[in-house]
Amino acid sequence: MKRCSRCILPETVPGISFNNDNVCSFCQDYEKDKEIKIAGLENLITQEFGLDSSLSLNTEAEKRNALEKIFNGVKKQNKKYDCLVGLSGGRDSTYVLYVARKIYKLNVLAFNWDNGFQSEQAMENMRTSCKILNVDFVSVPSKNNLFQKIQRYGAKATLKNGPFPLVRSICTDCTWAGAAAALKYAAKYDIPMIIYGQSFAEATEANEYKALSAFNAMKAKKRMNINWYKQVFNRILLRFEFHVPGNKYLSLQLPVLEKIKRVILFYYIPWDRKKIKETISRELDWKIPPESVSSWRFDCRLHPLINSLFISMLGCSKDAFGYTNMINEKNMTRQEALAQEEKLIEQSFSEDLRNVLRTKMGLSQKEIDTVFSYKRK
Ligand SMILES: [Zn+2]
Repeated sequence: MKRCSRCILPETVPGISFNNDNVCSFCQDYEKDKEIKIAGLENLITQEFGLDSSLSLNTEAEKRNALEKIFNGVKKQNKKYDCLVGLSGGRDSTYVLYVARKIYKLNVLAFNWDNGFQSEQAMENMRTSCKILNVDFVSVPSKNNLFQKIQRYGAKATLKNGPFPLVRSICTDCTWAGAAAALKYAAKYDIPMIIYGQSFAEATEANEYKALSAFNAMKAKKRMNINWYKQVFNRILLRFEFHVPGNKYLSLQLPVLEKIKRVILFYYIPWDRKKIKETISRELDWKIPPESVSSWRFDCRLHPLINSLFISMLGCSKDAFGYTNMINEKNMTRQEALAQEEKLIEQSFSEDLRNVLRTKMGLSQKEIDTVFSYKRK
């Protein structure tokens, strides 16, 4: 299979093209797309996250100064907690917790939105790191397993329509519920700031969207079965369960609360994959499960399903789009990415995934067989 000579994206990705040096269009557009992403983020930070727009943020030193200024501002308020950190037990959120607590000495409430699909190792990592850092920890599931039900009925409703509708719906409700639940808790405990752990390297939505847009959205009438209505019903219940006051109940936007400052940590400090992994392994006894291909995204047990579906639709994993970013950011070598991608392909549609679909998602044997019939031949 022909692959990009810089990243590892294969020729099977819809819409991809290669130049004379076999560099793919995603890599060719990388710098331009990054500028757009940064401009968008800077706009978000100044407009919405309430940053003083007179602050200069051009150099690394200036960014660190700005971060200190923000952190000192919340410390001065002398609240029980200076900030809330959303924790998944994965690599980046654990590092955010470490930086907030150990480097900047903030009083942190570690908050976990339990989507019902978290891996054991992720839970273990959260408990251990909070114990070592002496940080209060809350883990909040949906009271009636609504997120699991949304996944179950969503899968049942759309299985016959191929892998695309399934892959499209998996992460959206989780992202919303995680954001809403964190805000709700921050408000409840009068916490003035939330620190987020997103990074550019891992922001893959735009490239995934480019590749996935080749697939036609499912026809509306095919969706209208009893399971689809059950999914919608549970989605509405989830919206009510984690409703953030002042926000619309059924809005597609992520909720906001003006009084709570929001900080994207990796805008202010560099994101360095190896350094992050080394630091949390050494300082917080952080581990990845032995069977895990990489240190990225092992925290959710639905992720192998998403990777498997991507591999069947596009010929590459969802993670491969992140590798493209990491390679272009010089945070990963092509060889390393290729080795991980080959393992992901080998491990796609695994027995473990069957287990997750049966025990966590509640699919029948027949339904699981349908999912597995998507496997790329
Ligand atoms: Zn490429």
